[in-house]
Amino acid sequence: MALAETRLVLIGSPGAETAEVADHLAARLGLPSISIRDAIQSAVRAGSELGDDLRRSMNAEQLPAPELIAAIVQRRLGEPDAVGGFVYWTEFPTLSVMRSMETLGIQAVELVLADAEATRRLTGRRTCRGCGKIWHIESLPTLVEGVCDRCGSKVFHRDDDAPAAVAHQLSVYHKHSAPVLAHYRAAGSLINVDATRSTEEIVTELTSRLERS
Ligand SMILES: [Zn+2]
Repeated sequence: MALAETRLVLIGSPGAETAEVADHLAARLGLPSISIRDAIQSAVRAGSELGDDLRRSMNAEQLPAPELIAAIVQRRLGEPDAVGGFVYWTEFPTLSVMRSMETLGIQAVELVLADAEATRRLTGRRTCRGCGKIWHIESLPTLVEGVCDRCGSKVFHRDDDAPAAVAHQLSVYHKHSAPVLAHYRAAGSLINVDATRSTEEIVTELTSRLERS
């Protein structure tokens, strides 16, 4: 496979550092790293009709329809920088977005992380109120408990990182990702990668596996 023409969908649970892996992998392959958020920003910036549709649904305080999100992603993937390939990453894959990419020849990658490890990573995070740096009670503790090494402000446990919130995020992830992963598995286009390792190790393994596929 010519790596420069790779069209990758990278799927990882919260806690799997999916965005970071996508950015490093995209940089190594010379491709854009694209998320739903980028796609939405691009549609709005371009003043496209899709951006207007999105604004209308937000103004009405409705969740945008899945078909609208799919169309917005499809539009982004058709922009000049993505025509030759891309790394699209998501923590909340949906069948409608996946179907909108069906004709593109997608290689899917799942960053596999057990829920127990995702929970350990996410619930241990502590965020600095001053500079926003994210610490971790086990893997990146502050020298003085509760105080940021970098700026001296207090660090706190965000509501999003509380055990119940993390359990909810993981259950939403599994509900959304299960049918999408099953689809790619059945099509023979899914690679599983152990996401417990460092970003560099993951990217190196993925690059060499993609070269061989
Ligand atoms: Zn700080």
